[in-house]
Amino acid sequence: MVGKVTSREDKRVRAIVLEEDDVQVDQVRPAPAARPDEVLVRVTRAGVCETDLQLIKGYMGFRGVLGHEFVGVAESGTYAGQRVVGEINCACWNCDTCRSGFPTHCPNRTVLGILNHDGAFADLIAIPERNLHRVPDSIPDDIAVFTEPVAAAFQIPAQMKIEADDRIIVLGDGRLGNLCAQVLASISDDVLVVGKHREKLALLDGMGLRTALVSDDLPPREADIVVDCTGSESGLPTALTLVRPRGTIVLKTTVAGTQTLAWAPFVIDEVTLVGSRCGPFDQALHALEHGLVDVEPLIADRFSLSNGLMALQRAQQKGVLKVLLDM
Ligand SMILES: [Zn+2]
Ligand SMILES: [Zn+2]
Repeated sequence: MVGKVTSREDKRVRAIVLEEDDVQVDQVRPAPAARPDEVLVRVTRAGVCETDLQLIKGYMGFRGVLGHEFVGVAESGTYAGQRVVGEINCACWNCDTCRSGFPTHCPNRTVLGILNHDGAFADLIAIPERNLHRVPDSIPDDIAVFTEPVAAAFQIPAQMKIEADDRIIVLGDGRLGNLCAQVLASISDDVLVVGKHREKLALLDGMGLRTALVSDDLPPREADIVVDCTGSESGLPTALTLVRPRGTIVLKTTVAGTQTLAWAPFVIDEVTLVGSRCGPFDQALHALEHGLVDVEPLIADRFSLSNGLMALQRAQQKGVLKVLLDM
């Protein structure tokens, strides 16, 4: 290939790589090569998320460097030397979907650490420059690393009008459930988080949110909106028992494999089902900058990238919220 930079071939990075059904820390992986529209970002902090754990179980059939929640320092381009976070969908910006303003749904997209694009559990990541957002100086790395999941939580109010008197139930007291509950509680006065883990619910209690155990007697079919953040096959059936007729169920987590469900209640009760994925980074950064969402209490543990496998194991343990990787 003409004009290929050979020095980059010599550069080696550490990376957590998913191959077949095996995860390894590669200590001497070739540095990613940035395409013309991409820049290299030196990752300083990354977060392990439920999606990473699902990918390891076979979701999406992904192979490559894991990780999509990160903060780092851009090595070149407009943001050279500045701290940045990056949106995870790499769109073509050319197709009808992109031109209609929905680049996160681009049929030609790749997704960092999820679909045909190496991710952020590495010393360096290559990412389209237009995906980057500068991180305000007042947001430390430990907080900025939450931008992507907080943005995902803000996607719910971006997709549907939420009123102050909407009765909302968030199913799931884990990483994303916590963030969705905090974001929704900034709009509605009636948010209930339903979970399985007393210590995770206690954390939410401490943040001023109302909580209940899933084994508690919950009022059936009363909620205007039920948000499924369980990451579990049981989430949607449970949501269906809690949502009121003509209410809305928001599916926030992805589950590997195929689920079966009796769909008739959706017809009979005219329940709306809303899938919800990636959200607005600008709103997330604003919320983190102004302390509107409290993410620091979610940090359960941290590991160096070299001990990345321990980080992944730790993130799978019961009661553990966010596990961070320090590069
Ligand atoms: Zn994630
Ligand atoms: Zn496109």
